[in-house]
Amino acid sequence: MIRIQSVSKNFGPLEVLHGVDLEVFRGEVVCVIGPSGSGKSTLLRCINHLEAPTAGVVWLGDESIGVRESRGQLVEIPPAELARQRTEIGMVFQSFNLFGHMTVLENIIEAPIQVMGTPRAEAETHARQLLEWVRLEGKESTYPRQLSGGQQQRAAIARALAMRPRVMLFDEPTSALDPETVGEVLSVMRRLASEGLTMIVVTHEIEFAREVADRVVFMDDGRIIEMGSAVQVLDDPREERTQRFLSRIL
Ligand code: ADP
Ligand code: MG
Repeated sequence: MIRIQSVSKNFGPLEVLHGVDLEVFRGEVVCVIGPSGSGKSTLLRCINHLEAPTAGVVWLGDESIGVRESRGQLVEIPPAELARQRTEIGMVFQSFNLFGHMTVLENIIEAPIQVMGTPRAEAETHARQLLEWVRLEGKESTYPRQLSGGQQQRAAIARALAMRPRVMLFDEPTSALDPETVGEVLSVMRRLASEGLTMIVVTHEIEFAREVADRVVFMDDGRIIEMGSAVQVLDDPREERTQRFLSRIL
């Protein structure tokens, strides 16, 4: 479903991704682990073209994200087309970035109405179903600041799902949460995984990865160092760098 093909990313003279290759299949959950600064967020942001790769291409199915080939060269596609592609890729960030001036319901219906042209009534019906699904029924008229971190993150997940994405990207969705609300967010993500949604999850929650990931990817210094089943990478890592990282965080 997603093919990351030789993706490199430079910020000025600094190359932070060095030709990353990764394929994620339909219905698969891939957890990405690795030290801070290893390029995990940049890789996710390259997938939905929040960052344009300096080299390489990301494919969603048979469509290249953000670029198209023209006379043998890759050129950026128009913003409207990129916006349409992005509707297929949901993203949830570490800092629950809900719109603060909008209620929970307004947050969820905004993009379906504005980007997809969904009629308001239909968008609201779907939003209420999603709120129930993330166990936030009754919070429709609440503003984000009135919610706990865990509730905000569940609302952010509902907002991403409102676009009916084919893939969901999660960038450390629980690392800014109070410990007592981490579980409720992981439980929503676990249910999404069991429903067969394709997910790429950057996380430090090793127990979650062990339980939910079909594959675990270990990144260091802008490269995939090791990749395999959760059991193989987490319990029996081959690479010394993976072993060192896991021994530090476990
Ligand atoms: P991770 O998510 O694994 O902690 P990041 O992808 O955030 O790593 O960052 C990888 C490297 O890229 C870091 O050295 C970081 O400082 C650098 N970096 C990330 N974003 C930018 C940016 N917009 N401009 C310059 N450097 C950046
Ligand atoms: Mg990061």
